[in-house]
Amino acid sequence: MILKPRVRGFICTNAHPVGCAANVRQQIDYIKSSLTRQAGPTPRNVLIIGASTGYGLASRITAAYGYGAKTLGVFFEKPPTERKTASAGYYNAAAFETFAHADGLYARSVNGDAFSDACKQTVVDLIAKDLGQVDLVVYSLASPRRTDPESGETFNSTLKPIGKSYTAKNLNTDTEVVGEVTVEPASEREIADTIKVMGGEDWARWIHALNNAGVLAEGCKTVAYTYLGDKLTKPIYGDATIGKAKEHLDETAVALNTDLDVDARVSVLKAVVTQASSAIPVMPLYLSILFKQMKAEGTHEGCIEQLRRLYEECIYAQQPRLDEDNRYRVDELELRPGLQAKIETIWPQVNTENLHELTDFAGYQEEFLRLFGFAVEGVDYDADVDTLVEAEFY
Ligand code: NAD
Repeated sequence: MILKPRVRGFICTNAHPVGCAANVRQQIDYIKSSLTRQAGPTPRNVLIIGASTGYGLASRITAAYGYGAKTLGVFFEKPPTERKTASAGYYNAAAFETFAHADGLYARSVNGDAFSDACKQTVVDLIAKDLGQVDLVVYSLASPRRTDPESGETFNSTLKPIGKSYTAKNLNTDTEVVGEVTVEPASEREIADTIKVMGGEDWARWIHALNNAGVLAEGCKTVAYTYLGDKLTKPIYGDATIGKAKEHLDETAVALNTDLDVDARVSVLKAVVTQASSAIPVMPLYLSILFKQMKAEGTHEGCIEQLRRLYEECIYAQQPRLDEDNRYRVDELELRPGLQAKIETIWPQVNTENLHELTDFAGYQEEFLRLFGFAVEGVDYDADVDTLVEAEFY
């Protein structure tokens, strides 16, 4: 089959297995050639929840190829059928396992609903059988819904402002028209439901389940990811429903550190193009401006560059960079006041006509396509490709 991207708004409905594998390979090569280990403890047995795309995949690659760690990945991805390609995360994870096994690294994966108790039990059993204990747990889930295993009720997360509606400049990524978007404020119920999905409840449930089963090493580190942003994104992120969920993540870290023998920390990462972030209104335009500026400065980073610094400068650093709330920080380059001021000056000037001049929308689009294995350098997209990639996931 010859595959071309089928993009519908902020989603691409197919994925290219060869391109996804090439993406994973590039991230592996980057980590192998750039990560510097510091003296002191390093990750040995790592569980990554949300390991197939975006920040979770980069977390897995960094642990495995930066430190030689054994990795166990959890994700929720669609396998291929005769008529449809697999989801990109499926191809990414299959490629990662193939590379890791060829390189003599332990890598196993569970493809299932991480919010369920059954998935947690499968992981506990696998750790007990293969690894004994884990010393780092990365929580990198991004999901629009969660079924609470206790009540059986399903909750949906929303991306809405709180209190009043929010109108902002917005880029339609399909038509390349710069217009306006108005997002109505969330109801109390929508705020509570977003916290239920994207807050810390499930992170805590994982850590308690692992602890109760005796598969957490003493002082096990655990990180969960957040975004803070600045003026332009605050109304739709930090001060909005997702921001409330992330505040709950902060509270969860404090509770985990108090209740258990773990080192739990929220880690603040920069804005990047992932399947999760492309769905957030305002983000594609913000990212397009950000990319142009950071590329010009030579400070542009994607998921893997962020994760290298998170491990090197924070999780496994002798003097980790922490903020006043005890969070690891690697978003400092994005948040420099001078850079944010520049973006705020450009923001009101952008329109449909000057989009490509004032922003790096072309770079944004390329990174978006790369998420699905398209637009990857060195891949022949006119060649026939076998989409029925087999993988041995639990
Ligand atoms: P992503 O969409 O690339 O990855 C989400 C992962 O979660 C995938 O591996 C997916 O399979 C998995 N997943 C989703 N639902 C699942 C389920 N029910 N069971 C098992 N696995 C499931 O997202 P991302 O952007 O890498 O986000 C990861 C974390 O990083 C989130 O907490 C997000 O808020 C945070 N973050 C993202 C950005 C950004 O700009 N993208 C910035 C800072 C922080």
